[in-house]
Amino acid sequence: MNTLLLKGKPVVAKLSSELKSRVDELALFDIIPKLAAILVGNDLPSQVYVRNKGRAFEKLNCSSQTYNFSEDTKEQEVLDLIDELNHDIDVHGILVQLPLPRHLDSQKILHSVLPVKDVDGFHPYNLGTLLEGNPNFIPCTPNGVLQILKYYEIQVSGRHAVIVGRSNIVGKPLFALLSQKFEMGNATATICHTGTKNLTAHTQQADILIAAAGSPGMFTGEMIKEGVDIVDVGINRVNDDSEKGYHLVGDVCTESVMGIANSITPVPGGVGPMTIIMLLFNTVMSAERCRKLEVAV
Ligand code: NAP
Repeated sequence: MNTLLLKGKPVVAKLSSELKSRVDELALFDIIPKLAAILVGNDLPSQVYVRNKGRAFEKLNCSSQTYNFSEDTKEQEVLDLIDELNHDIDVHGILVQLPLPRHLDSQKILHSVLPVKDVDGFHPYNLGTLLEGNPNFIPCTPNGVLQILKYYEIQVSGRHAVIVGRSNIVGKPLFALLSQKFEMGNATATICHTGTKNLTAHTQQADILIAAAGSPGMFTGEMIKEGVDIVDVGINRVNDDSEKGYHLVGDVCTESVMGIANSITPVPGGVGPMTIIMLLFNTVMSAERCRKLEVAV
């Protein structure tokens, strides 16, 4: 079997061009979709990620402002800024970059973002509407996974999707999305985690395998059945002797599944690039809603 690589780049290009016309339309009314990103501490991957977000927003004529706090910032300072941004009519989306330093209550901080500006889709209101089948903002990485499946016309409805990982940002929203009666849903979904006994017995049943465990190369050819479509969400740093000192690998041992799987998203270059474009998607959607509210008033 020839295993197809489901690259993120063409999907990003297609979504970018669709978003561009929506951004141009908003510009006619002097509305520039704006994201406020909050970064606390010195976590290097978070800094790189926020910088990349800024560049992607700029490229699409959207605006992104980063608010940097030092590692020892008090919780109230972050909450005060979020309160200010919640009331700023020029800000359409607020993103709190995770992970936060340990002394900060991440849940309290994420819950303080107004659901109408929660473009990450992590607020319990937005997770609740997603579970209800009436999503407001869909979390970016899970939505990116659906967009890849849609672009490459991977059948979802009626198939068995096995998700490994139950985090609030990846696994659980994907479980909600894939099991709903949506265009890119209607699958029979199973969610696995460290409490799952005999993981291989589950992964071998998957028509679609979503690997989101954060464990480098843990899924091998023996764990899958022929013809499975694999989405590798994992992004893991493995140290090496290169100039950077590391390289990125997914949760799937790609060489061992080639020829068995029908398709797989590469790492890097698969799901990775999707998260930022889906963040742009949510921010533009939020700006459009503001425009509609203005018209209604
Ligand atoms: P997380 O919060 O650490 O959750 C990992 C999940 O996988 C947990 O539910 C854990 O089970 C489960 N798990 C871990 N090892 C397992 C094993 N051996 N067998 C079965 N289940 C196992 O991670 P996350 O934030 O969801 O991220 C997952 C991966 O996706 C990471 O590599 C991350 O870097 C990547 N990621 C990529 C993007 C992107 O592409 N833009 C975005 C977000 C995350 P328990 O709940 O039982 O502990």
